[in-house]
Amino acid sequence: MVGVLALQGGFAAHAQILRELGAEVREVRVPADLEELDALVMPGGESTTMTLGVEREGLGEPLRAFAASGRPVLATCAGMIMLDRDHLGVLDLRCERNAFGRQPRSFEADVEIEGIGVVRGVFIRAPWVEEAGDGVEPLGHVDGHVVAVRQGNVLAVAFHPELAGESGLHRELVAAAG
Ligand code: GLN
Repeated sequence: MVGVLALQGGFAAHAQILRELGAEVREVRVPADLEELDALVMPGGESTTMTLGVEREGLGEPLRAFAASGRPVLATCAGMIMLDRDHLGVLDLRCERNAFGRQPRSFEADVEIEGIGVVRGVFIRAPWVEEAGDGVEPLGHVDGHVVAVRQGNVLAVAFHPELAGESGLHRELVAAAG
């Protein structure tokens, strides 16, 4: 069973892709929804709004515990921001929000992700990784900026694969979930 954090943002498209890959999916809105999940997706959206939802539902500690349990996590765009040092503190990095421009402008790009291959993504007011500790492996770049990282069981990307019809990262997640 794969969970998709469903407080706000683009969770439905992630759930759809996971179902197409044959996974059972549960939308996560309260801490109990995290029980017995094999993997978790943190979708994109708006990290300020998502932070309010996490606080309201008391999901901060349960989400940290889930990541610390070693089960695979895929975070996309605002999902990556949610995991950084300034938010849940799961990833030893700092994201620069809206780094590719403050306008709600978007672009699509192919990103070469080390160990996975070329992945297509939509960048919508996307962050990049501004600074990262030694335990964070940079896996992909756009214009010289880090937009994909792995830290242990967590894979985080600055873009939306789910809006580009890209299922490669979800396939990896489902495979890692076993
Ligand atoms: N700009 C958003 C934020 O700061 C992230 C955008 C996205 O997830 N597409 O939270």
